[in-house]
Amino acid sequence: MPLPKLDTEYLTKFLVDLLNIPSPTGFTEEAIAFVEKELSAYSQLKLSRTRKGALVAKWEGSSNDAPRALTAHVDTLGAMVKEIKTAKNTNISEGRLSITRIGGLMLPAVETEGCWVHTSKGQKIRGSLLVNTASAHVHGVKSLETKRDEDNMEIRLDVKVSNVDDVKELGIQVGDFVSFDPRVELTNGFVRSRFLDDKACVAAIVAAIKSLADSGVAPTQTAYFHISNYEEVGHGASAGIPAEVIELVTVDMAAVGRGQESDEFHATLCVKDSGGPYHHGLSNRLRKLADEYEIPYKVDIYPYYGSDGEAFWRAGGDVAVALIGPGVDASHNYERTHTEALVATTNWILAYLLD
Ligand SMILES: [Zn+2]
Repeated sequence: MPLPKLDTEYLTKFLVDLLNIPSPTGFTEEAIAFVEKELSAYSQLKLSRTRKGALVAKWEGSSNDAPRALTAHVDTLGAMVKEIKTAKNTNISEGRLSITRIGGLMLPAVETEGCWVHTSKGQKIRGSLLVNTASAHVHGVKSLETKRDEDNMEIRLDVKVSNVDDVKELGIQVGDFVSFDPRVELTNGFVRSRFLDDKACVAAIVAAIKSLADSGVAPTQTAYFHISNYEEVGHGASAGIPAEVIELVTVDMAAVGRGQESDEFHATLCVKDSGGPYHHGLSNRLRKLADEYEIPYKVDIYPYYGSDGEAFWRAGGDVAVALIGPGVDASHNYERTHTEALVATTNWILAYLLD
């Protein structure tokens, strides 16, 4: 039986909309609610939230003797306001903000990026992240030499402020979340954006659900879809996978670069990362399915990588875990993938749900 038809246009549109919702780890409510609203259109799904804020959708299968789960994460890298700078500090302008990173944010990758400071009262204040020796005409060669780290980078607000009190008056406080612009662009099938990790895979799961629902088919086994909200700090799916589940397929980006098999036009099965090997039996079943349905895929190993599947394993989850996902170039940087990889990943999810 061929796989149900996939609505690629829907997949891309949903992805772009999701990418444009700020969701650094700890500040994911809007993104989770967006996915929840989308999935609430399907009466086949029973939706719930974990206490930690993750979204879980249950779809009763034709059989229920081997329930499965898939997980993808909606949280992204970002930052928090660490300090409202005063004139006492050297080399800074009063009223600028220093930040503390959330997840593995690489500061050189967001230098000069536009950002929002989200106050605790729900306001958004615009700014950008700069090195504190940004002006070439003031700092000369020092501007190039300054290390791009938390000590030397600061947010410049696009509001007239000249001291700490002005900033506080805006409602900004230490601990406010900072989100960076994703800068989404679609060109020739490429999707270029920050945070394709892991919104690309959330979109793949949602598109797979739509495709299955549109074709009037139910999953072979009862399936849980876990939309995680704390993956980038290592404990996303450590809670929220029901105890009856026997297999967990983590859907997360594949690492593209020198020495890697993965690319932007395939889905990848990751058999080992920093957390060690994944479940051989489940991985082999996924390979067999990809061969059977002629899904373009690679098999790869990621040298600096951990997944939510491993978070569940570490939390004591007694399940088989495997990891698949689309190839994403320049991960945790200005990322890029291609629609072909997104389609391959979504079809792989469908093949698994119908297996
Ligand atoms: Zn990820």
